[in-house]
Amino acid sequence: MDARTGFPVVGMVGGGQLARMTHQAAVALGQSLHVLAVSADEPAPLVSPNVSLGHHTDLDALRKFAADCDVLTFDHEHVPTEHLRALLAEGVEVRPGPDALVHAQDKLVMRRKLAELGLPIPDFAEVTSVADLHEFGQWPCVLKAARGGYDGRGVWILDSPEDAVIVDELLAAGTPLLVEQKVPLRRELAALVARSPFGQGACWPLVETVQVDGICVEVLAPAPEVSAELAEQAQDLALRVASELGVVGVLAVELFQTDDGIVVNELAMRPHNSGHWTIEGARTSQFEQHLRAVLDYPLGATDALAPAVVMANVLGAPEAPAMGADERLHHLFARYRDAHVHYYGKQERPGRKIGHVTLLGDDMTDVRTRAKLAAHWLSHGEWLDGYEIH
Ligand code: ADP
Repeated sequence: MDARTGFPVVGMVGGGQLARMTHQAAVALGQSLHVLAVSADEPAPLVSPNVSLGHHTDLDALRKFAADCDVLTFDHEHVPTEHLRALLAEGVEVRPGPDALVHAQDKLVMRRKLAELGLPIPDFAEVTSVADLHEFGQWPCVLKAARGGYDGRGVWILDSPEDAVIVDELLAAGTPLLVEQKVPLRRELAALVARSPFGQGACWPLVETVQVDGICVEVLAPAPEVSAELAEQAQDLALRVASELGVVGVLAVELFQTDDGIVVNELAMRPHNSGHWTIEGARTSQFEQHLRAVLDYPLGATDALAPAVVMANVLGAPEAPAMGADERLHHLFARYRDAHVHYYGKQERPGRKIGHVTLLGDDMTDVRTRAKLAAHWLSHGEWLDGYEIH
């Protein structure tokens, strides 16, 4: 409890953009998010006055941080599960708890659990030797690091048995591996839900996530051309996962859409890139909802505020633009008076997510075109005149 305000203290482990945007939502709820960050120049410590510096793999640093917080939650999945179990045993409120979070930390644990629940997933197998890959026998296939991957790092498409040699190298480096069927996906979707300890669930409209080279570049809300039946199936699936796994907070279920339906790709138990559009585009943002959930407040309404909402990530350009970021922002606002811009306080580096822009409107193609042009301008300092969505 913060004696100055009478409100409980939420501590978030990790100081990235998700903690930064959660802090923004926390302020409105009378809070000031406490953040455990590795360095003072990460996105959240740049804006929150309540920062502890320490590493998320250091149990003592976690203990010390948790001592001043009523609830502990996360901006990423990288706290070792055994540390979370130790904190829980010592009486810390860990939300989501380790028994849930492990399914977002370890893809093999997650695949096994979803298989047990009878949910649609790709064929998969654990890989402890090259022989396991040959026994799996599907080419092409997708080899994955079970732990530690993000934004496509830790994912390798293997086209033929000759590519299997990579396994030895990865196993020698201590990377736990699994192999999956290469899903003939038409596109990627995400079902975002939240669950409170009381057991209340809430889901936002199903979205499409547009990926380039394993990185999400755009999110379209709602996902265009999805039948009401498919949307409901995806949302029911996500709510079921949240309740079966005992998730507390926001849960993002990343999905592949195939000609036959949907299969689950992976889970994230925190605010997620596929939900940034909710800040301006939904009645309750994912960041506020995550806080409500971890504090066991009733959850907020999740309906969209416009027929079409598009979030486009601003990624660092391959070459630094001649025009500075501040001047690019001036020009952007001159051209798009309705663009909602979020910068994360990060240095520009090629391919790095440094911010995002959200636009709302009535027509998805129009909104998507404007969001794409706006984000491209902020990244590259050039207008894609004549650009059309195909
Ligand atoms: P990360 O944890 O790094 O985000 P993902 O498991 O989400 O990794 O995979 C990254 C991308 O690789 C996915 O967004 C998808 O485009 C592709 N991918 C992953 N698994 C498969 C699969 N089984 N079949 C086809 N494509 C896949």
